[in-house]
Amino acid sequence: MDCLFCKMVNRDIEPDIVYEDDHVLAFNDINPQAPTHILIIPKKHIATLNDIEEGDLALVGRLQYTAARLARDLGFAEDGYRVVMNCNDHGGQSVYHVHMHLMGGRRFTWPAG
Ligand code: IMP
Repeated sequence: MDCLFCKMVNRDIEPDIVYEDDHVLAFNDINPQAPTHILIIPKKHIATLNDIEEGDLALVGRLQYTAARLARDLGFAEDGYRVVMNCNDHGGQSVYHVHMHLMGGRRFTWPAG
């Protein structure tokens, strides 16, 4: 499958890994928008948030759980952080394998652009 993030899961491309378990992979974003900018992905290929099925609910929860745990371990949970999941064109999605952005280490503004 010609998917950048699947290639990372399969190690055809070597990501800068910060966490891995049987179900998820977390690695540093190549174009960080914050002092810490990590992408957390399911190892299973799911193209967009629209493609999540009921059987994937635990997996989606694991993405959020991983984000919170990394924020704690990296020391910015108390100050706060931003998690973002972009969907399709208007959402700004550029890689069509579901991923959660975890950004920390600075103050974020709202609304998002
Ligand atoms: P999206 O725009 O929400 O789909 O986010 C895709 C993210 O993947 C962007 O923040 C990119 O900087 C990031 N990205 C693209 N290619 C790579 C790579 O090779 N390694 C790490 N991150 C990447």
